[in-house]
Amino acid sequence: MKTKQDILDEMLSKEAPKCPHCKNSMSVWQVPDFAFGDGLGWGSPYLYVCFNDECPSYKDGWDNIRGNFAHNASYRCMSYPDGKTFEFIPVFSPEGGTGQLISEQVLQEQERLKESIKIGFSSLADAYVHKDADAAMLILLDALQPARVRLKAADMIGDIGRVSDIESLVNNKYGNQLITEQVQASIKKIHKRHFTRECPFCAEIIKDRANICKHCGKEVAGL
Ligand SMILES: [Zn+2]
Ligand SMILES: [Zn+2]
Repeated sequence: MKTKQDILDEMLSKEAPKCPHCKNSMSVWQVPDFAFGDGLGWGSPYLYVCFNDECPSYKDGWDNIRGNFAHNASYRCMSYPDGKTFEFIPVFSPEGGTGQLISEQVLQEQERLKESIKIGFSSLADAYVHKDADAAMLILLDALQPARVRLKAADMIGDIGRVSDIESLVNNKYGNQLITEQVQASIKKIHKRHFTRECPFCAEIIKDRANICKHCGKEVAGL
């Protein structure tokens, strides 16, 4: 079963078909979720669409539909990912559907994101091998890292983090629920690995088996 991404990659890796009506190159178009998800759509998450406003079938479409159905619409030529079968999709304004165009810019962003995820994961793998908690902490605290990479860093810190990392882990704001929850789980893991815990009175880190907190002097046995 091909994923959405597989289909997109495949369509982008080959030359887009030419519109049979105007001979312009067609654009990759993302089918809106409401048209795809109900199972009544075109059976593909992406299609090729001719967005040439001078395309004769599109230009004639306005008059055609106004004449026959008395409402304002036209149609643009579309093709399935195979680039061989051509049909029409209705549009209700010149801008209709252009929001779903997969533009160069969107693609570049997507490429950049993929690239930084790759780089992030490989730095994390290095950090893990060398038990380099500082490197993993830097990635976790860097808000410009992709969320997926930071989430992985948060998870890894549970395994390689030190007790001295806990304070920064607690004090940082992550701006992402999943990362925040993972950090909390990892703090627990660090405590467990080092036989420590937080004093329930002063929040300083103490030995798990301590009877008296060495920071605030309170009795903490069994708490
Ligand atoms: Zn065309
Ligand atoms: Zn205390």
